[in-house]
Amino acid sequence: MTRDQRDLDELVKRLLADPANSDHPMHYALSQLWLAHRELLNRIERITHVSDAYQSIAREREMSLAERFDKQLRQLEKVARISDRYQQMMRELNIALEEASTHDVLTALANRRLLMERLKAETERAGRLQHDFCVAMVDIDHFKQVNDQHGHDTGDRVLIEIARVMQAEVREYDLCGRWGGEEFLILLPELDLASAQVVVERVRLGIRNLAIRQGTEALTITVSAGLAAHLPGESYSDTINRADAALLRAKQHGRDCLVLAS
Ligand code: GH3
Ligand code: MG
Ligand code: MG
Repeated sequence: MTRDQRDLDELVKRLLADPANSDHPMHYALSQLWLAHRELLNRIERITHVSDAYQSIAREREMSLAERFDKQLRQLEKVARISDRYQQMMRELNIALEEASTHDVLTALANRRLLMERLKAETERAGRLQHDFCVAMVDIDHFKQVNDQHGHDTGDRVLIEIARVMQAEVREYDLCGRWGGEEFLILLPELDLASAQVVVERVRLGIRNLAIRQGTEALTITVSAGLAAHLPGESYSDTINRADAALLRAKQHGRDCLVLAS
């Protein structure tokens, strides 16, 4: 309320209260106007009060909404982080499972399952594209004696060392695997018999040159091998059988040698 309004208020109040004015013809009209004015002022005050209250409620609700939103956002971010970690774990687990199901535990070479998958794929590719591939079967000589004389743990160590040499001596695209106990298979894609012979001989001599420490002595291990080139139209089992027959001949010829399948 301004100063002028307050002065006017005071003036009207005084005029109405003065008994000298009670008979004035305007007295009744002014008193009614005065009451209506007071009532209007009261209503304006009530409306202002309600509007203030409403605005503060709206502000509070807005704030609590923002807080709830922030909290939910934080929870969502946490869930997303957990889900990311979980997915990463699943990916790593899948890789580990894949590795475990396709590789030999002792030597970490391809296991028979992976070898057969690759042999199948290579046979199909050979049929389609007329590519060569060879298969070598490699068997440790008198391995039973190694176990008998030096113990099973030494035997295991020999298997691990041989696997390491094989991996080191083959080409990048060849696949070495453990076919059975002390028998290994090498798949040599894109090679004819003569070229594959060079690789397998390198593996055989690499193994013979290994000196596996056993107490004060060094064990010399030899292997026998049979090598067969895949023939057009032949199944991979047939190729393996011919490599196996050549391996048998290598054993019969006194071991520590490589025989080519006819
Ligand atoms: P050959 O020269 O005719 O192949 O004789 P060999 O003694 O190597 O062959 P044989 O089949 O008589 O014996 C194979 C041995 O390999 C018997 C088995 O105990 C051993 N062997 C197979 N798998 C493992 C293995 O994982 N660890 C160890 N330490 N020995 C194994
Ligand atoms: Mg053997
Ligand atoms: Mg054997």
